[in-house]
Amino acid sequence: MSTGEEIARTIIDACLAMNRTGLNQGTSGNVSCRYDYGMLITPSGIAYQQMTESDIVYISADGIYGQGKIPSSEWRFHHAIYQNRPDLNAVVHNHALYSTILAIMHKGIPAIHYMIAVAGGNTIPCVPYATYGTPELSDHVAAGFRGRNAIIMQHHGMTAAGATLAKALWLAEEVENLAKLYVNLLQTGMEIPLLPDDEIDVVLGKFKNYGERGESQQENSQALPSSV
Ligand code: 13P
Ligand code: ZN
Repeated sequence: MSTGEEIARTIIDACLAMNRTGLNQGTSGNVSCRYDYGMLITPSGIAYQQMTESDIVYISADGIYGQGKIPSSEWRFHHAIYQNRPDLNAVVHNHALYSTILAIMHKGIPAIHYMIAVAGGNTIPCVPYATYGTPELSDHVAAGFRGRNAIIMQHHGMTAAGATLAKALWLAEEVENLAKLYVNLLQTGMEIPLLPDDEIDVVLGKFKNYGERGESQQENSQALPSSV
């Protein structure tokens, strides 16, 4: 198992990756990982380039953190996701351009492309607005994460989560790509055809073991005699 310091480093690397891929800028957004009986989360208002491991804050399962520490203002919704979803171990929040355009328009993403299923269903929902950092926003986020691994947040941005930080980051990038497609489609002014629910169910079934073939092929190749 990784130490707290190793996880803190991975969190900072994920923040820097969000800047590089254009998902975020400045001090917007925050990242956390489930750790011990609580979570490790980015500090509030520190630019990612300046963040060091000692800035990452541990918050216990009952929401307590060390004196003098300043965790992300959004720690409540990260905490709520971990409480409600034992299958999720990392959370990524950002104000990515196309997701935030949809957020301002109060629009979730419908089934425009089969990749919508990466978030766990036939839509990526848009949850109601509440002031950043409030328990009310945390309640809206937690409700959005029932049955979905990613959401859009009205007049704010997007949040994605996963079993690992790498998966949460990957999902955030996929959501932003879908948002970009949808914003472009809306601009055509044409009717947008959607995939039916039964097709999304098929894709959801296929996604359950998506990527496993590569892993099992690796295992098999190790088991083969060297002459083969
Ligand atoms: P923090 O710097 O407090 O994490 O806030 C950034 C943000 O995105 C608030 O929603
Ligand atoms: Zn935010």
